[in-house]
Amino acid sequence: MIHLRREERFFEKMGTEYPSSPAIPSRPASPFSVPQSSTPFKSSGPVVGPEASAFRHAPPSSTQITPPSSSSGSMVGTEASAFRTIPSGMPNGAARPPPTSGFPNMPPAAGPYQPFPAPQFSSIAQVPPPRTSLAGQPVLWPPVRPVSGSFSTSPVSLNPTQPTPVQMGSPPQSGSMVQPDIVAPRSPIDSQFSAARATMQQSSPTAGSVYPVARPSFQSSFPGYISQQTTAGAQAQPRQSLAFPPQPGGYVPPMPAASSPYFAQQGCYAAPPSVASQLGHPREQIRHPGSTHPMAVMQGLVEDFSSFSIGSVPGSFDSGLDSKVLPRPLEGDLERNTLSEMFPLNCSSRYLRLTTSGIPNSQSLASRWHLPLGAVVCPLAEAPNGEEVPVVNFAQTGIIRCKRCRTYVNPYVTFTDSGRKWRCNSCALLNDVPGEYFAHLDARGRRIDLDQRPELTKGSVEFIAPTDYMVRPPMPPLYFFLIDVSVSAVRSGMLEVVAQTIKSCLDNLPGFPRTQIGFITYDSTLHFYNMKSSLNQPQMMVMSDLDDVFIPLPDDLLVNLSESRTVVDAFLDSFPSMFQENTNVESAFGPALRAAFMVMSQLGGKLLIFQHSLPSLGVGRLRLRGDDIRVYGTDKEHILRIPEDPFYKQMAADFTKNQVAVNLYGFSDKYTDLATLGTLAKYTGGQVYYYPSFQAAVHKDKLCHELARDLTRETAWESVMRIRCGKGVRFTTYHGNFMLRSTDLIALPAVDCDKAYAMQLSLEETLLTSQTVYFQVALLYTSSSGERRIRVHTAAAPVVADLGEMYRMADTGAIISLFTRLAIEKTLTSKLEEARNSVQLRIVKALREYRNLHAVQHRLGGRMIYPESLKCLPLYGLALCKSIALRGGYADAQPDERCAAGYTMMALPVKKMLKLLYPQLIRIDEYLLKKTSLAEDSKDKDIWKGLPLAAGSLDPQGLYLYDDGFRFVLWFGSMLSPDRVKNLLGENFAADYSKVSLREQDNEISRNLMGLLNKYRESDSSYYQLSYLVRQGEKPREGYFLLTNLIEDPVGGANGYLDWIMQLHRQVQQNA
Ligand SMILES: [Zn+2]
Repeated sequence: MIHLRREERFFEKMGTEYPSSPAIPSRPASPFSVPQSSTPFKSSGPVVGPEASAFRHAPPSSTQITPPSSSSGSMVGTEASAFRTIPSGMPNGAARPPPTSGFPNMPPAAGPYQPFPAPQFSSIAQVPPPRTSLAGQPVLWPPVRPVSGSFSTSPVSLNPTQPTPVQMGSPPQSGSMVQPDIVAPRSPIDSQFSAARATMQQSSPTAGSVYPVARPSFQSSFPGYISQQTTAGAQAQPRQSLAFPPQPGGYVPPMPAASSPYFAQQGCYAAPPSVASQLGHPREQIRHPGSTHPMAVMQGLVEDFSSFSIGSVPGSFDSGLDSKVLPRPLEGDLERNTLSEMFPLNCSSRYLRLTTSGIPNSQSLASRWHLPLGAVVCPLAEAPNGEEVPVVNFAQTGIIRCKRCRTYVNPYVTFTDSGRKWRCNSCALLNDVPGEYFAHLDARGRRIDLDQRPELTKGSVEFIAPTDYMVRPPMPPLYFFLIDVSVSAVRSGMLEVVAQTIKSCLDNLPGFPRTQIGFITYDSTLHFYNMKSSLNQPQMMVMSDLDDVFIPLPDDLLVNLSESRTVVDAFLDSFPSMFQENTNVESAFGPALRAAFMVMSQLGGKLLIFQHSLPSLGVGRLRLRGDDIRVYGTDKEHILRIPEDPFYKQMAADFTKNQVAVNLYGFSDKYTDLATLGTLAKYTGGQVYYYPSFQAAVHKDKLCHELARDLTRETAWESVMRIRCGKGVRFTTYHGNFMLRSTDLIALPAVDCDKAYAMQLSLEETLLTSQTVYFQVALLYTSSSGERRIRVHTAAAPVVADLGEMYRMADTGAIISLFTRLAIEKTLTSKLEEARNSVQLRIVKALREYRNLHAVQHRLGGRMIYPESLKCLPLYGLALCKSIALRGGYADAQPDERCAAGYTMMALPVKKMLKLLYPQLIRIDEYLLKKTSLAEDSKDKDIWKGLPLAAGSLDPQGLYLYDDGFRFVLWFGSMLSPDRVKNLLGENFAADYSKVSLREQDNEISRNLMGLLNKYRESDSSYYQLSYLVRQGEKPREGYFLLTNLIEDPVGGANGYLDWIMQLHRQVQQNA
């Protein structure tokens, strides 16, 4: 109780960053801040311009000059390139798939994973990295054969010769679920908010008071994009008392005899029926399957699982199993609607997905569910037009929440006592309805104002928060840039692209006219820029004392964008050229980071870091450590994937405390220890972007697009998130990029639609007595316009007593998203091989448990069975093991690639994750010939359906598009008509494809192709796919870009799909 109350108070003041230390009135002063002093620095630095660089190189008058690179141990420079060399005899044990003991006939699975240079995660240079295949390892390509067109989408029954002991009639499919009896009609909400309030009923206890009507119309959830600034609206009513009502029973009216104590029937929504009744089964049947008629159980089973036959001789490859019948997600995410059909008032699954919607009713049942039990939350997911989250302003009423468990009012609460009380759906407490919120109930017990109350009819809603949800005035959107200007950064062309992109986005930064902006650049010294609005051009100040960083002109380094726009424009126009001749190879990144912290710590905001080299000077300098191949395959291997210097984690903690989110952009072709640098993004709710071997000529579009999205996407500032659930269950672990503040409060200095978080659930009580568990995600944040808001997503899920139900309601997408995060976390403490094994082991355990459920009745013999809901789980598991974050060993991905992939995947929403793991491969040559343009192709859906990711899908006469959401690969078959190639590539059609970039040619086919690519890009613009061209047989390019990613093929030492299934099946049968 006491604990709960403390938590409530805590959450109520969620805005308080550190309620436990109330002595801090607002933001602590920066620990680093130095009083403005007369310490010498070039405060009167010259105006930026050609002279500026001359000035920079003048010997600083300040105290110490860091000795030339001795302190950095000559880590940067030509020696660095030696890192790439891969000595022979490299350990490759880690590349082995798990042993398959007990099956001596299995071919040896040893050997390096994949001798190709590993494909890179995002964009990459045109020239593959100079890695060569390991000595003596032939590359075996699966034969390329014409597409037979017979790949099917895996029908439910995969075994044409099922030795089925029982006649399986056609069962009622899940569509047979009946809707709950009493479901309030969905409110025609889009037209109703502007309606004036209905007249007050005379018996209202507060007759005459004004209804706090919902806002007159839908607003954008992020009104920061509107230039006028709305005010935070509400004179907050004094907070509701936190005291518990002495005994809730005192308020409870007599219960209707038949009603569950949790659900007063007179409310607007009845308690959802139990799962069993919704599924059309008598409830007892599900609770006690053994006691029901066998035929009834059989019918249930048919829809439960699918199966296929596998050769009866263990270890035999020639199983007769045709890979064509294996299940594949060729149409993308296989999201099932089970839950939204049962609970139509739930929030959309784009915001919240459970790994299974059947919540186990006991710990013993939960322990038999070997897959992760939990949720994936994307609180700000982009909503299609017309489905925006409605905004509600309770104004004087205050936000309606349960006094006991702090649940926000939602569609599942019920009203009673003539509308004067409401019962919390989560803890059943009967709460008073505030006078201003009162409405009469109709004959069915529904509030008469229901259709004007989005909070009672929508699973997602956004409340305007009164001032007691703030500990300081809402911060303005703030963008601060930290830019590496050392020689390698200059030569890559990165500076121009960054400067131009920022400049082009200035009009679209959220939060006008309050938006703030500032810049620091650095090489071996730090460069500050005075952006005061009274100047015509910025002034640059150079600081060379890296040991005692302080902030010159603290008031003018961070400025209001609209006031200083001229100066900011002048800076962005001139700064790339200022450093054009820079030959400085050093990087004083750590000191620059500290300086940025000092500038930002008062307000918070977003820090965007553009780092091209390994930090070499001052605090936080790093060493080349990724090249120590002796570490690979040993117990110390994981150390390469965790931060080396505690400085960065400490800085990340300080940033989070001060509401700063860090996004890191990495560009180098050399090792830059992203494992360490990425920590900054990981713990601040940020993001890592990686453009290895960045060259402006090649990667410009990708950087432009992704930086622009980062700058202009809707952003929630200084936020915290909590997910609540009903009594008896509890979220125990959280996975993603953030820092936990207290046991269950996720601190997110900035959040946007591209970020998702996963969490695991456990049962607190041995047995759950309720029939439904409610989940509620609450994100308290400051909008770009300066409004404090709470976005609330509510969902209900049934409690089930049967393992089969849990499987039936499983969600592969959520499971694999949680799996991925757990596996990546495991690589931080274990070898890659162990992380892969853990994925495999859990899949095996789950399938074995499932098999045991049905083995007796069905005499399964050699058949492999799996729940229909999880038919693609094994394939996604294989794809996860082959993803860049987990694949192979040392040679299969560079340390920076792996770490960048890991940081990225930790934040991906479900659909994006699934696409990355099992990308889309489509044949497009026929399609491009069609006159009709792409938009009208709704009837021709086949073009959007993918092909199996195997070389067998590729026809030499075809042109194929591979899209993983991060890049495109266009594969040109060797027998593709030369005319067509010429149409697409112009005069370059015969050239080396590594030197050809795709441009629109003046013909229909080319225009169609470009249109198609754009259409794909628009369908998800969170990342930009650059196009890489590959010609069949062009080595090593073809393997590097495409063949290694055809995850169904057994390339290198790793399993193909068929082998993987057989291996899983054997392991399932062991001890079955
Ligand atoms: Zn409650």
